[in-house]
Amino acid sequence: MHASKPGGGPRGSLLIVSSPSGAGKTTLCKRLRAEFPNIGFSVSYTTRKPRPGETDGVEYNFVSMERFQEMAARDEFAEYAMVHGNMYGTAANQVRDALVQGRDLLFDIDFQGGRQLRRHFPEEVVLVFILPPSLRELERRLRQRATDADEVIAQRLKVARSELAHYDEYDYLIVNEQLEPAYDALRAIYVASLHARPRQAARARALIDGQEALPW
Ligand code: 5GP
Repeated sequence: MHASKPGGGPRGSLLIVSSPSGAGKTTLCKRLRAEFPNIGFSVSYTTRKPRPGETDGVEYNFVSMERFQEMAARDEFAEYAMVHGNMYGTAANQVRDALVQGRDLLFDIDFQGGRQLRRHFPEEVVLVFILPPSLRELERRLRQRATDADEVIAQRLKVARSELAHYDEYDYLIVNEQLEPAYDALRAIYVASLHARPRQAARARALIDGQEALPW
């Protein structure tokens, strides 16, 4: 699966942000979308049940296992994976549309999804991993935000450690000790990605070809 903008204009970035739960990824992503409203958000499909406050089509498209399997069989996912016992997947048409239109897309997906998208779109994908400053701090944040039992928190910490082990598959690692510097780093990575060579190469080629007024 490969797509670029017709006419060879600038391509969109596929900005993938992953982290163990409790590291602050959701807050950082919301802030980036608020500052840059042109970034689209890839709304995944999942078989998990909605949590209170979640709306179908906003945080996720909530579907049955049967429907998910049908979509997978029809090759309708750009990537999919099992995470914490539920299926999650990114619709291929969302990614294709963004690339064709030259729009940037933000993904909140795990390392398995990041790995698959990197394989499909090596030039467009930017992989960012958000790290907690320490496991002790991660535990403190998990306890603060959830009313989960001790065993659930212990299980989440165990999962967090195994997710952290995939740090070496990412382009950028941001330690989220303080929100402001962590956000500044994510913002800088996004802005830099807009100027990455694969994204801007078409402009250079147009200049060389003598096009005075670039068509985009
Ligand atoms: P939650 O159910 O708490 O919203 O998300 C659980 C985990 O699933 C998070 O780590 C999130 O990044 C990951 N996730 C969400 N959507 C997708 C997806 O479409 N693909 C993959 N591979 N992971 C996803």
